[in-house]
Amino acid sequence: MKYDVIVIGGGHAGIEASLAAARLGNKTLLISILAEQIGAASCNPAIGGLAKGHLVKEIDALGGQMALATDNAGIQFRTLNLSKGPAVRGSRAQIDMDRYRIYMRTIILNTENLYVAQEMAETLVAQEGKVTGVITQFGNHYHAPKVILTTGTFLNGLIHIGEFQQEAGRVGEFPSRTLSESIKSLGITMGRLKTGTCARIDAKSIDFSKMELQPGDENPLPFSFRTTRETFKPFQLPCYITYTNEDTHTLIESNFHRAPLFTGQISGIGPRYCPSIEDKINRFRDKERHHLFIEPQTREATEYYINGFATSLPTDTQLNMIHSVEGMENARIVRYGYAIEYDYVDPTELKHSLETKKIEGLYCAGQINGTTGYEEAAAQGLMAGINASLALRDEEPLIFRRDEAYIGVLIDDLVTKGTKEPYRMFTSRAEYRLLLREDNADLRLMPYGYKLGLIDEQTHQKMVKKRKELNEGVAYLEATTLTPSNENNAFLASIGEDKITDKVTLQKIVARSEFSIEKLEKIAPCVQNFTEEAKEQILIEAKYKNYIEKQKEQIDIMKEMMDVKIPPMMDFSSISGLSNEVVEKLQRFNPPTLFAASEISGITPAALDILHVYIKFFN
Ligand code: FAD
Repeated sequence: MKYDVIVIGGGHAGIEASLAAARLGNKTLLISILAEQIGAASCNPAIGGLAKGHLVKEIDALGGQMALATDNAGIQFRTLNLSKGPAVRGSRAQIDMDRYRIYMRTIILNTENLYVAQEMAETLVAQEGKVTGVITQFGNHYHAPKVILTTGTFLNGLIHIGEFQQEAGRVGEFPSRTLSESIKSLGITMGRLKTGTCARIDAKSIDFSKMELQPGDENPLPFSFRTTRETFKPFQLPCYITYTNEDTHTLIESNFHRAPLFTGQISGIGPRYCPSIEDKINRFRDKERHHLFIEPQTREATEYYINGFATSLPTDTQLNMIHSVEGMENARIVRYGYAIEYDYVDPTELKHSLETKKIEGLYCAGQINGTTGYEEAAAQGLMAGINASLALRDEEPLIFRRDEAYIGVLIDDLVTKGTKEPYRMFTSRAEYRLLLREDNADLRLMPYGYKLGLIDEQTHQKMVKKRKELNEGVAYLEATTLTPSNENNAFLASIGEDKITDKVTLQKIVARSEFSIEKLEKIAPCVQNFTEEAKEQILIEAKYKNYIEKQKEQIDIMKEMMDVKIPPMMDFSSISGLSNEVVEKLQRFNPPTLFAASEISGITPAALDILHVYIKFFN
């Protein structure tokens, strides 16, 4: 059985990888342990959030599926950080996890060129440093020149609930036992990580009247650039907020001796920014209370997820700690929380294309690369699917720089720095975050999606129109000036703006804080018929003009720097400021340019700066 691309794993990474590969014309096989679980949300019923929302928009701009699925299955939509600048705003949606999964499975099974095999991949087959196929537990041997591994938490997965341990990929699902050994046998370094989830409780046993209501946005915005804003009227459900208290903390603390995290039962490192409740109590004992978000898992709202209460404490402790919280005094647990340890591939084993350095044609994406989160997984899956397809066409891989996309930041961080703990995306990881906004992800990335053939003509034209209107609006604001006449100041007063005393461009006025779209339409009537999206862009570009220009200048300097040639036979050990590790790596790989140096794992931006200054000084 011959294919062009085989994807192992039908999680968030595997979905995007297999869809991209098939849509780019490759005969693609998706091997997954349970077809039913394709697109399952292992943990929280939500997509997006700060920085993660950026990733979803970027996936969408490139032609991925995640945003469309979220618009389809979302049951609460919110824009986080609305009071802050546009660069750090994040879209987040609660999803009906059943509908999300069914939507994804339906899309997968209806995609041309894409075939699904409900099997367990056990062995990777490689010859002379090239992958050639996969053998499953039934002994089926599938052949393909490109294989993408997206196995999530399943490799040697081991679940912990108190003293109870069970081998599983997720609770109730088989673990993948032999694939890890097969990967290792190819010379690829692996490690062990841990993550965890909370208990789910029965809705009818919760007293919501004791909790704070958290509704969705009044005017919810869709995730996808392909969903029409004007007609987007999703069914929305509220979430609720409650808090842990002193009793909860004391109870958890008194059970530390039964916590797998502290007894030595768990050896894998957990997510620093998404810790379990026992970890939080241990680290922040002085905190009086912790937020808990009570989130519906489906539209029917029969089960609720307790966001902030991940735990692997024993079942009796889980019940008691839930009962100690206001509104959950009589709550009944439907599913217990648990921790899971699993094997992951050291991401410094990968190139920026997500292909492994040691085995040609073998790619890794998602949680297997040490990340955590559906969005991080989907972003990598999409890129692995695209790059495997480009390699089949003998074309260069698509690699985003750090100034082009959060996806670029994510992959660059992983493959150059590696990770020893589950990696999640934050806006603070992006140096050029003023340029990498959610709202302009289409302008930044859709041209790539369109060129590849993953974005259709109509969607592309929508983006082209937005760009044209943006350019026209910005040009008008910059070219039009107001003089401090009585008439002009009366006009400014009429729209609630302070008068001017000097001649200024409209851009300077629009850049004032709190300048709204309504005011923009009055001061620049030419924008009146533009789309809402274009008007928003014009406002943002006018407001942040100076900062944006500064970041663009920095990028130009960086681009120039990356082309700088490193003289052959350079003595790196004589350059002061470089760590021994950096010197050792530079000596070993002898990179011809600063860009090539930046591709080596462990070569930091600071080390590149030192190298750059040194080369300039001695040439
Ligand atoms: P997954 O979604 O895990 O999908 C892996 C897929 O691979 C599955 O379909 C599986 O059947 C298939 N598979 C595995 N091995 C094989 C094989 N040998 N053959 C065939 N198919 C195979 N993320 C957060 O952001 N925050 C959290 O707090 C959080 N907590 C989590 C808690 C738990 C208990 C778990 C399990 C996950 C948690 N996650 C959390 C992580 C989140 O679920 C993952 O980041 C995300 O699902 C990763 O997507 P993925 O596609 O890489 O893998």
